[in-house]
Amino acid sequence: MTTFPPPSDFNGPHAASLAGCVDLHMHSCLSDGANTPEYLVEWAADLGLKAISLTDHDTTRGIKQAIRRGHELGVEVIPGVEISVKLSGGTFHLLAYFYNPDDTAFEATLRELAAKRETRNRKIVQALTEHGMPITYEEVLQEAGEAVVGRPHIAAVLERKGYVASRQEAFDKWIADDAPCYFEKDTFGPEQALRFVREHKAVPVIAHPIWLNRGGLDKTEEYLKQLKAWGLLGLEAIYPDHDEVWTAGLIEIAQRLGLVVTGGSDYHGGRTKPQVTLGHGEGGGFKVPATVLDGLQAARKAAREAA
Ligand code: AMP
Ligand code: ZN
Ligand code: FE
Ligand code: FE
Repeated sequence: MTTFPPPSDFNGPHAASLAGCVDLHMHSCLSDGANTPEYLVEWAADLGLKAISLTDHDTTRGIKQAIRRGHELGVEVIPGVEISVKLSGGTFHLLAYFYNPDDTAFEATLRELAAKRETRNRKIVQALTEHGMPITYEEVLQEAGEAVVGRPHIAAVLERKGYVASRQEAFDKWIADDAPCYFEKDTFGPEQALRFVREHKAVPVIAHPIWLNRGGLDKTEEYLKQLKAWGLLGLEAIYPDHDEVWTAGLIEIAQRLGLVVTGGSDYHGGRTKPQVTLGHGEGGGFKVPATVLDGLQAARKAAREAA
């Protein structure tokens, strides 16, 4: 098991330098981020980050170009993707690392999931129209451009058409998980998602475990134990939304359950989470030590060797 510095070492208010650090969670314009994969790699190189992972929502399309740019600039780029998983009353996010970028079946399945998104997104558009906010699916597509179409794009259309003052208001009033115009995506459940990732020899890691919304750390641990039985290998303990108690608590849980610890900023750019920048959380008070790579490499080996 990798040893980690105490949370205060990477969660202090002013983490100045990112040299030798990593950032294993970020989005490009191929999902709902503002920047190209190449730009993210260039910025990472400039910051001195040792390794990054591009983890777009439900697509691996940006990964090869990111890896190519990483080779040129000396930044290790780990293949990643953030998969939405259906949970009663909402969704959670599962990161998958180290899939083979040439594994076309992996991307093909993700594309099938994206097609199911369309059915769901059309239902949301219809409901918003019925609630007196007429928008069309074509407007949403236009907003998304090349990206995997999601609620952030619907929120942007609602804002642009003046139905809400901000994208956040669009979520809070209309399209958040508990709001009136929300519909669940027909996608993988937890067991299915974990099986899918493990079948493709990739490393499944729970993204931002605080948003599993189980309640406290005890309940979260109980649920993680179940996920581990289904093939989970890691936890993203180091994350901007985790305070010191959650970070330390999740690291302890990972050690108890034999899971590896990862971390990332979840940088999107643009107007999404403006307090987060590459490698840094709010106020710069966040960074992910490169020691997490040792654990992740060990998990990669375990994932490949498993039947
Ligand atoms: P989708 O995958 O289409 O269901 O959209 C999920 C994305 O919407 C998440 O990755 C967040 O970026 C955003 N999102 C979900 N819930 C909220 C919320 N309550 N407030 C703001 N953004 C949200
Ligand atoms: Zn996102
Ligand atoms: Fe996420
Ligand atoms: Fe994310």
